Amino acid sequence: MNHTDDDIVCPLCGTHYSEAEGRKCYSGCPLQRGCQLLACPACGYEVPAPTRITRLLSRWLGKQVASR
Ligand SMILES: [Zn+2]
Repeated sequence: MNHTDDDIVCPLCGTHYSEAEGRKCYSGCPLQRGCQLLACPACGYEVPAPTRITRLLSRWLGKQVASR
């Protein structure tokens, strides 16, 4: 469907969510707004916000999986 590169996939439950959604859910660092963590809206599992490198990596990994 609307699967974009901005999607984050929770490694725990597999839920897809956007970076904005993850930021909204993450409230562990009220004093540190620069904290680069996102939380899964479904299970609350925290993941580091995607950087350019992790995006490249997941794209590369996705390609590996897709080409099989
Ligand atoms: Zn999850």
